[in-house]
Amino acid sequence: MSPRLLNKVAIITGAGSGIGLESAILFASEGANIVLADINQAAAEKAQALIKSKSPNVQTVFVKSDVGKEEDVKALVERAVTEFGRLDIMFNNAGIMHPQDDNATNTEEKIWDLTMQINLKGVWWGSKYAILAMRKNPTDPARGLHTGGSIINTASFVALMGAATPQLAYTASKGAVLAMTRELAMVHAREGIRFNSLCPGPLKTPLLMDFLDTPEKRERRLVHLPMGRFGEAVELARAALFLASDESSYITGSDFKVDGGLSSCYVTAV
Ligand code: NAD
Repeated sequence: MSPRLLNKVAIITGAGSGIGLESAILFASEGANIVLADINQAAAEKAQALIKSKSPNVQTVFVKSDVGKEEDVKALVERAVTEFGRLDIMFNNAGIMHPQDDNATNTEEKIWDLTMQINLKGVWWGSKYAILAMRKNPTDPARGLHTGGSIINTASFVALMGAATPQLAYTASKGAVLAMTRELAMVHAREGIRFNSLCPGPLKTPLLMDFLDTPEKRERRLVHLPMGRFGEAVELARAALFLASDESSYITGSDFKVDGGLSSCYVTAV
């Protein structure tokens, strides 16, 4: 069986940690050339070295970028096209969960704005510049290369369900990513550009585990998880790989849930 992303070019934002890191490793192992984007240079360079050791035949490029800045996102996509001549996969994955994000009365406007800047505008800009690049992709049917591509935007289970442990700006930003992605999918379907939202459940990554820093905080969530455990970043990477590959060629506009059943749950088994 040939590698699932052979000859494709992928940008992954937030590639230095968690879902982005596991996806970069997995996409590379399936033959994609990867542009790793992160605000954290040390983490992304470590990721790049790891990929080089595991998948020496693919090429990787690191671009330091803050997805909360439009000029950074534009430069990121331009670098991918300059380096590899095309862009097939855009994984708009970087996001933050701010420790001071709270309920409606406690959340400060600056925390709200920062969260929206990164989690929502970052995904909009990533989508915008990826569309412009994917329209120009050179075709090469013999190598399975076409115009268009796959854009995956990371939302969250909190875009679908409410939590009594609030992070209001985060939740609002992810709900907006979900709605925006559906509409993008409709607008660009006939150009061969697929858009899907990835909706992770609670995961054992730094983003959540730094926040749930006591056994009590973790237990408050674990009791609601049907499988009785947090998800692993690699379990999301496997779903992202499917959405990135041509195996999902008839899937667009989906709210792709990888949440261990959480969003279908009323009471958990004991
Ligand atoms: P993580 O904290 O492990 O990794 C996030 C990466 O994004 C880090 O390397 C960080 O440096 C980078 N980053 C942060 N701000 C950035 C910016 N402005 N520009 C570029 N890079 C930036 O997080 P994760 O758990 O892998 O989360 C990835 C995505 O999944 C996020 O969008 C997050 O909201 C979403 N998500 C996570 C969970 C969870 O439980 N971990 C659940 C649902 C959704």
